[in-house]
Amino acid sequence: MSSAHHYDYLIIGQGLAGSLLAWRLAQRRQRILVVDDGHATASSMVAAGLINPLAGMRFNHSPHVHQWLQTLEQTYGELAGLAGQPFLKRLDMVRLFRSAEQIRFYERQKDRGDTHDLLGQRLDADDFPQPVHAPWGGFEQYRTGWVRLPRLLAFMADWLRERNMLRNEKLSYEDLELQAGQLSWKEITADQVIFCDGYRSMHNPWFRWLPFAPDQGEILTLKRCGDAPLPDRIVNGATWLLPVDEERYRLGATHYHDRQDNRATEEGKQKLLAGMEALLRHPDALALEKNEAGVRPATADRQPFIGTHPELPRLHMFNGFGAHGSLTIPWYAQRMADWLLQAKPLPDNADIRRLAVKANH
Ligand SMILES: Cc1cc2nc3c(=O)[nH]c(=O)nc-3n(C[C@H](O)[C@H](O)[C@H](O)COP(=O)(O)OP(=O)(O)OC[C@H]3O[C@@H](n4cnc5c(N)ncnc54)[C@H](O)[C@@H]3O)c2cc1C
Repeated sequence: MSSAHHYDYLIIGQGLAGSLLAWRLAQRRQRILVVDDGHATASSMVAAGLINPLAGMRFNHSPHVHQWLQTLEQTYGELAGLAGQPFLKRLDMVRLFRSAEQIRFYERQKDRGDTHDLLGQRLDADDFPQPVHAPWGGFEQYRTGWVRLPRLLAFMADWLRERNMLRNEKLSYEDLELQAGQLSWKEITADQVIFCDGYRSMHNPWFRWLPFAPDQGEILTLKRCGDAPLPDRIVNGATWLLPVDEERYRLGATHYHDRQDNRATEEGKQKLLAGMEALLRHPDALALEKNEAGVRPATADRQPFIGTHPELPRLHMFNGFGAHGSLTIPWYAQRMADWLLQAKPLPDNADIRRLAVKANH
């Protein structure tokens, strides 16, 4: 098919998932069109972009973690070279224990051979190196940092637009027509469609059987307003604080499983400010600049939803990256491109086939 309006892939959503997958497919000479509604509900535009390979109360890590870290450095580095500006900022993290049990979890992880590059030394409560309250002490974490996501998305939007690969519009599922030979949407035809539309895919009529578990979160941006000492690394306890630059910090984040909108609330703000009071030795040195909210595309089993519809082979999903997209999406985008173009099997933990079997597809 040689029409100017025909594409190999129609990608719905230009958050981090749609952006990186589109870029990988375009690099491999696929004709793509990305459709996005101006980031109306992009959690990527709200997220702090933290990279934390040992997330969770037990500091466990995925067997893929070293592949994630290697691929993200390569991917964000390649994009930085293309854009002439950095997107990934490496910054060590200080983790705060919240109980004696967590100290045991740390000791257990420390004994493992595969965490020496991630897990640093234990930090005593009496001699804590950051100006925070740390009654249980904590430990140093390495290979952490954060990604400037809005800047990356803006660059990717320009990159796509310059190549006529981006359309700023909302796609309604009912306007997408599936015929035997191809798909059509308005005047556009495509061989395949990939949904990278974040939590809104929970309403996707072809993928109703995927158990999305959207997780709304609020986050604050704070401005320095005094000379009192403040952390110079990422501090992560019940609340986390990220130094963005000399002046600005981000503080997060809440989790609400019963909300699906991007409205920041007074309740969320007060909860986060109380967390800041409990965390910092000098909370008065920071003033609120803005509060924002977004919905994480989280899933019931906390694993991504990626792969192909079991009965409709032109429909694909690349989604479900929950609270850790900055860490995981670069690697999964490569796996997804390898699956689509070379039929290389997807990782079992992420492949939606695990759920298709349960849903009798
Ligand atoms: C408060 C908060 C803090 C977070 N902090 C972190 C963090 O520190 N580190 C981290 O890794 N992750 C964090 N996350 C999670 C992170 O946002 C996600 O993992 C990741 O950004 C998801 O990217 P995505 O592209 O899948 O989805 P999204 O970013 O949500 O992108 C989906 C895009 O599709 C568009 N879209 C949807 N439906 C349609 C349609 N029908 N037509 C056209 N366009 C459509 C949306 O407007 C949006 O632009 C946080 C999230 C929140 C809410």
